[in-house]
Amino acid sequence: MRVESCRKCGTELEIRQNCSVCKEPKKFECKNCKVETDEQIHSICRLVDMNYTPTISEVA
Ligand SMILES: [Zn+2]
Ligand SMILES: [Zn+2]
Repeated sequence: MRVESCRKCGTELEIRQNCSVCKEPKKFECKNCKVETDEQIHSICRLVDMNYTPTISEVA
């Protein structure tokens, strides 16, 4: 997992929200600037979320 840093001040961002599908963080907040970043779009996860079919084929 890549840790994002603030584009303004470079502070490491805090995770605000995790993707419900892949559990990767998709929304961050800079504690220093008190701003939330834009939500990262997981196009694949959105597809999975929309027509959710449990599959464990990709789990190692
Ligand atoms: Zn995702
Ligand atoms: Zn910042």
